[in-house]
Amino acid sequence: MDSEANLDYEVIVVGAGVAGIYQIKRLIDMGIRAVVLEADPDLGGTWYNNRYPGARFDSESYTYGYSFSREVLDEWHWKEMFSGQPENLKYLNFVAEKFDLREHMQFDCRVQSAVFDENNELWNVKVSDGRELSCRIVIFALGLLSQPTMPRVDGVEDFKGRAWHTYNWPHEDVDLTDQRVGIIGTGATAIQVIGEIADKVGELTVFQRRPNWVAPLNNSEISEDQMEEIRARYDEIFETCARTPGGFEHEPDRRGFYEVSEAEKYELWDRLYDEPGFSIWLRNFREIFTDEQANAELSEYIAQRIRGRVKDPAVAEKLIPKDHGFGVQRVPMETGYLEAYNRDNVHLVDISETPLERITEKGIRTTEAEFEFDIIVYATGFDAITGSFDHIDIQGRDGLTLREKWFDNPTTFLGMMVSGFPNLLMPSGPQSGSASTNYPRGIENGVNWCSDLLEYMWARDLQYVEATAEAETRWTDHVIKMYSVMLMRKAQSWFTGYNSNVDGHEAGKIRYMVYNGGTPKYVATINDVATKGYEGIRFAAESKRLGNVTAVG
Ligand code: NAP
Repeated sequence: MDSEANLDYEVIVVGAGVAGIYQIKRLIDMGIRAVVLEADPDLGGTWYNNRYPGARFDSESYTYGYSFSREVLDEWHWKEMFSGQPENLKYLNFVAEKFDLREHMQFDCRVQSAVFDENNELWNVKVSDGRELSCRIVIFALGLLSQPTMPRVDGVEDFKGRAWHTYNWPHEDVDLTDQRVGIIGTGATAIQVIGEIADKVGELTVFQRRPNWVAPLNNSEISEDQMEEIRARYDEIFETCARTPGGFEHEPDRRGFYEVSEAEKYELWDRLYDEPGFSIWLRNFREIFTDEQANAELSEYIAQRIRGRVKDPAVAEKLIPKDHGFGVQRVPMETGYLEAYNRDNVHLVDISETPLERITEKGIRTTEAEFEFDIIVYATGFDAITGSFDHIDIQGRDGLTLREKWFDNPTTFLGMMVSGFPNLLMPSGPQSGSASTNYPRGIENGVNWCSDLLEYMWARDLQYVEATAEAETRWTDHVIKMYSVMLMRKAQSWFTGYNSNVDGHEAGKIRYMVYNGGTPKYVATINDVATKGYEGIRFAAESKRLGNVTAVG
């Protein structure tokens, strides 16, 4: 295949989640022949799949929504400060329908492989329905947490009751009344589930290996009048998000941690703990992210809060993390999570003391006892960020596979391109500005940058684009360096590539998954690259090969 006319599409976007929806909007607006291939039966990504009770934003709803359309901002009414999954999925459908995006999406199309054809400078994309589609550019909008992982424990198939990973919570209503439910995991997902279902089940047994720090979400409804005020403030809201490191409305307290009195410190923490969302995390002193002592003081404050809310002191101690400090990973936000443990029907099993032995026909066996259940919920997390790439056979130049290239550590240019993989873009890939921030703010930045790059190419009849190896090394080294100043490097979480259920992702080895420099620095860097004629990126013109590179980095 050697001419434009023979291509099935100019661009194939993989994934119809928050990123894919906006990406196809930009491409359609540019008049490009493009399609979204989505493995699920419908659009929504994270919000299509995560239907577990309690699933909701940890971002203020009005900072999570897209900012690109005034019409959408004017018409959509967020009903809660931290909106729940059903409403979030409705919102994404509202956006897709408003701009007729659905007609550019194909569902139940799992991309199995994408192979770069060097002779013709195009991608061949194999889909689960048997088709092989060609395109010039492939854009992976795969989602950061879309590859759920089950625990590596024997007997999962043996259980005779009902069982599922939280990501695959059934779409139909699950009546939990009188059910004996076991849940494995105490990450952000389990923390939402437990808070929500504790008073709806018969018995709930939580299997905890390591506790996580939590803070109250402090959710509330948004009235018509409040929504009017929010609409009037949208410009200001998005300006604030653009200038804060996390892409939220929360701005750090810029007073020096060691310059304020004890009384002022505790006054701030008392206030932030009762404020909505990530206030206690992101409106805090900046030192809590980098300074051991500052972090330890805040951690002790939060530990005291836990002790104050959980009646049984022994249970409270088990719920207080000892291996990492508060806020060195994304803080799980909770509603009634800690109080759930004050209920007679909720039981905590510390599997760091009595490890899981196996799943049995009747339930879960630890080294101490066998627990019988009607339902087992696996809240055991994700093969984050790179996992969804690893499940597609992606082959770039010279037969190099992305899986091999990233086995030890992902390497990227700006988190959006990979050397050796021409014409491949990732608006929110590993090491991009999305993961450690308010996702959609990062995603919009990524989609805009990728779309502008494509416009630049098409305006110049360029059909080949690839990050140079030097630019990739420079960026990846920078990402690694940013970790060295953050206490985050000490936590075992998906930010450090930890997942005990995936080979090569175990504790003790850091995979540099996210960019930690914050939104303003990230945006300044990617804009600078663009302004300098895409420094660090090589282009080739129509029908020219790599040897005839026309633009340089
Ligand atoms: P996670 O944070 O990775 O938690 C997984 C949990 O399962 C951990 O407690 C882990 O224990 C446990 N686990 C895994 N394998 C196990 C095994 N073999 N045996 C025993 N326990 C095992 O995953 P998640 O809770 O799904 O959250 C992932 C991310 O999703 C969060 O960090 C957050 O960014 C995002 N999220 C956001 C929201 C929101 O509010 N919008 C809600 C949910 C999730 P160990 O820690 O000991 O490994």
